[in-house]
Amino acid sequence: MNARPKKSFGQHFLHDRRYIERIVSAVAPRAEDFVVEIGPGEGALTLPLLAVAGKLTAIELDTDLIPGLRARAAGVGELHVLHADVLKVDFSALAHSHGVPRLRIVGNLPYYISSPILFHCVEHAAAIQDMHFMLQKEVVDRMAAEPGSKVYGRLSVMLQLACRVEPLFNVPPEAFRPPPKVESSVVRLLPLEPHELHDARPEHVYAVVKAAFGQRRKTLANALKQLLDSDAIRRADVDPKARAETLAPADFVRLAKVYGNP
Ligand code: SAM
Repeated sequence: MNARPKKSFGQHFLHDRRYIERIVSAVAPRAEDFVVEIGPGEGALTLPLLAVAGKLTAIELDTDLIPGLRARAAGVGELHVLHADVLKVDFSALAHSHGVPRLRIVGNLPYYISSPILFHCVEHAAAIQDMHFMLQKEVVDRMAAEPGSKVYGRLSVMLQLACRVEPLFNVPPEAFRPPPKVESSVVRLLPLEPHELHDARPEHVYAVVKAAFGQRRKTLANALKQLLDSDAIRRADVDPKARAETLAPADFVRLAKVYGNP
């Protein structure tokens, strides 16, 4: 297990057994689950998950890690490795092609693309049973933030419209090789069914949320002026003088509905 970790792939390998065990017991995989791991690396989570679940599909971008991973999994369980960029993997098609309704996704994520991975998973939320991710603590704080908080923003709204966000526990840099510069945190995401994003086109919600938080110090009338005028904002039952950071996720869905049906 001595590959030199590559910075460009965001490789920080988890080596502290206590945190590995805590993640595996939080996931609590069962034999009937279809578990997908994003970024297995050298297998710190893969092997213990495989030992419990019996089978697992892992998506890894770094070719150099794959032979070692396969060798270590031999005799532990049935490991399928997809050599791919996770952002190009269609989770809905993956579930469909294996005849399972929903996937369970796990990953100590590469931090350089953590937000794109989260948005990608939200897009496929209907094909996902749950997610357990290791992320920068600062990202988990933003995901779970409530209106009025300094860190409430785009990520909070988009994630909370699609999932229940449950921060689980923090993990210090020393638990990884090499240690990342920041504190990490494990979070559980449970897709909501049906989720509120379904009430409007997700791209409309995203456009409104992006504009609103792009200028978070301004009133909505100002920040949204390219998309909606004050009357339209009022039609969504939102005060045009309010600021984005005071709105609940559902308010953005109503704004997006008016934006989509002017
Ligand atoms: N799971 C291992 C662990 O906990 O020790 C490795 C975690 S490391 C933080 C992130 C892993 O994601 C690395 O193995 C890296 O090569 C892989 N990775 C980076 N970018 C990726 C991408 N776009 N798609 C799939 N895997 C990726």
